[in-house]
Amino acid sequence: MGDQRKKSAKAFKKAEKVIPGGVNSPARAFSAVEMDPIFIEKGEGAYLYDIDGNQYLDYVNSWGPMILGYNPPQVIKKLKEQLKKGTSFGAPTEIETEIAELIVDFYPAVDKVRMVNSGTEATMSAIRLARGYTGRDKIIKLEGCYHGHGDSLLVDAGSGAATLGIKGSPGVTENTAKETIVVPYNNQQAVEKVFTEYGSEIAGIILEPVTGNMGVIGPEPGYIDFLRKITRKNGALLIFDEVMTGFRLARGGAQELYKIEPDLSTFGKIIGGGMPVGAYAGRREIMDYVAPVGPVYQAGTLSGNPMAMQAGLATLKELKNKKIYTQLEAKAEKLEKGFKKNIEELEFPAYFNRVGSMFTLFFTAKKVKNYQDVKSCDQKLFAAYFRNMIEAGIYLPPSQFEANFISLALSEENLDQTIAANYQVLKKLKAE
Ligand code: PMP
Repeated sequence: MGDQRKKSAKAFKKAEKVIPGGVNSPARAFSAVEMDPIFIEKGEGAYLYDIDGNQYLDYVNSWGPMILGYNPPQVIKKLKEQLKKGTSFGAPTEIETEIAELIVDFYPAVDKVRMVNSGTEATMSAIRLARGYTGRDKIIKLEGCYHGHGDSLLVDAGSGAATLGIKGSPGVTENTAKETIVVPYNNQQAVEKVFTEYGSEIAGIILEPVTGNMGVIGPEPGYIDFLRKITRKNGALLIFDEVMTGFRLARGGAQELYKIEPDLSTFGKIIGGGMPVGAYAGRREIMDYVAPVGPVYQAGTLSGNPMAMQAGLATLKELKNKKIYTQLEAKAEKLEKGFKKNIEELEFPAYFNRVGSMFTLFFTAKKVKNYQDVKSCDQKLFAAYFRNMIEAGIYLPPSQFEANFISLALSEENLDQTIAANYQVLKKLKAE
């Protein structure tokens, strides 16, 4: 393996000398799948091309943002136009209002939006706001959910931290970590217990309403409703981290899907159309607690950056068309049927889970409902699956603790090719 990726191997050696681990985000490391990362040259539609000239069908989509596929013409056009006008002003532009209006339109729970530069900033700011607004310090977080690398949220986190088996992180003080109370996902009793003990100290609960960062797991019936009720009863805020699910599971995100109005929502990924963006948003009276109107301070030199806003706005304008979500669902359903048929036919011990255009193939025979279930998956088998899929020209997230994303650019033939590759690889693994 690897002969056809000589240039990538060389580029990685060079990168390792000047970048920690050779990557600018740990989730890009291929250590869990015992490979060197693949260096990318370009993306086109549903395809990624590496620097050796290999072509891959892509199910990572930059970890979610590229819902339209690579280089959608509407987005590129807007970026080119903005490039000529200027890439940053540090002063207001009308584009910022336009994109905020679109988000407000699609999310009934949102009256006001503040733009930041990443999902991490969005959740970090939402937590600060929840604490400032309620005058309380403690936050409830769900085990295996990932909300970026802000100190308060880097406790029992999913994604790269889970892949690398990092439970907390040196550098996060004990005092900070102890204000974050972690409970298992999909477990009502655990949340009740925390409220019984600390009720008046809880500023809010933050969660991925459908998780992507421990693989795709949806809420059990009644769970989200329960969280809405218990937070309201105790004067705590319900914070939906929709960085991954926003504009993906539906135009109105998971909150549309489960018909719940959270107090605060965080966004990222798709709303930047592939440029660095995050946002936090919510009801007027809470958002007006943010500076310059309110006392909770949060700022950003490049926040609302015009290039990022143009890419985001052009993407969201495409997503105004609700048919897009019907198309995504049809593609995702086709893939689900194909994968499930393969698993059944081969009697392979695997569990396929999907919500909308996010899915994970878990290497376990039993249903996956929480982080402990994901941890019990066969990671070695996943790694072998991943490597074989790469050889078949299918680029997947290099960890069991991640979501796969379906983009609009994937054609019927692309999906057939993926299902066929999945069959061949599972068959081979079964025989080994
Ligand atoms: N929240 C969720 C749900 C995420 O999936 C991520 C990133 N994968 C983040 C927050 C952090 O976003 P960023 O990497 O842009 O800081």
